[in-house]
Amino acid sequence: MESPALERHSAKNVSELSEQDWESLRHELGNQRMLGMSLDAGGHLTHGFRPNISGKMFQQRSYGTDPETGLLDYDRVRAAAREFKPLVLIAGYSAYPRRVNFAKMREIADEVGATLMVDMAHFAGLVAGKVFTGDEDPVPHAHVTTTTTHKSLRGPRGGLVLATEEYAGAVDRGCPMVLGGPLSHVMAAKAVALAEARQPSFRDYAQKIADNAKSLAEGFLSRGARLVTGGTDNHIVLLDVTSFGLTGRQAESALLDSGVVTNRNSIPADPNGAWYTSGIRFGTPALTTRGFGHDEFDRVAELVCDVLSSTSPNSTKAGTPSKATYTLADGVADRTRAASAELLDKHPLYPGLELS
Ligand SMILES: *Cc1c(COP(=O)(O)O)cnc(C)c1O
Repeated sequence: MESPALERHSAKNVSELSEQDWESLRHELGNQRMLGMSLDAGGHLTHGFRPNISGKMFQQRSYGTDPETGLLDYDRVRAAAREFKPLVLIAGYSAYPRRVNFAKMREIADEVGATLMVDMAHFAGLVAGKVFTGDEDPVPHAHVTTTTTHKSLRGPRGGLVLATEEYAGAVDRGCPMVLGGPLSHVMAAKAVALAEARQPSFRDYAQKIADNAKSLAEGFLSRGARLVTGGTDNHIVLLDVTSFGLTGRQAESALLDSGVVTNRNSIPADPNGAWYTSGIRFGTPALTTRGFGHDEFDRVAELVCDVLSSTSPNSTKAGTPSKATYTLADGVADRTRAASAELLDKHPLYPGLELS
């Protein structure tokens, strides 16, 4: 590409480019615009956020969720799209516990002449397993659909890009533009995963993922915990841990001390910021694979609530609650570990495989 800006910066390592360098590169690329879901509403770093290359190459703006309900508000998306006129409208999330109407997103994209890209990385298993159909199935509505294969699709670490005929040529130019040779062993594993996803048993699995998420959400709500959007209708439950007087980081650490591995996560308008956060994100695909059902997920909620209600923030020197340090009451970590081991022993990952 003959480009004065690229020429000017060609001697630099990408990590050495200044904000001004990036700005002139963006200018050189025609100041292309991307509109995606905001991070604290559940969007993904790769949807135009600064630490990611997408946020450096595109001018980015994001749409959030309704501050009252936490739900995606299509009128807000439409207003943002009309004002910003993005080249690419991105739909998709990694921490939003609800379904998305992709027909509406396409309508909005068409209204402003944008390309609709749906990143279904997180929920591809619910698409393949026909839990999301009609307007909730992104593939018939998006110009380009991207996904990972290693999340709810339950395959190897990797990805897929699907596109309409119109975009096929552009997508194919991704090799060699951003990709080198194929990983043929991963391609074989993807084929196996997709063959599994076509089986009737995968539909049962996908439905159970969604049913179990509801059970987990009910388990939390019945114990007085607060959930972002008040519940779930996909595979994600986002627990607002401010109801326990904790930050996400304290909750994550206390759970980890107790043998429960989770991710802290921002919640909309997070009072503790993107580092400490105020949420813990749960997903049901993995434990569903192990055979967990309603009762087991209710028990998971019980154990989590036990740990969190037994955790209190330490005081800082100034006498305010710390965002980082905490005290977990004696004995709770041990009893949680024992209870989790008992649950997991009843649902071995590979029944019939004896590990001794
Ligand atoms: C997980 C995910 C990706 C891919 O991230 P990896 O770090 O490669 O796993 C992209 N988009 C979304 C929405 C995701 O959830």
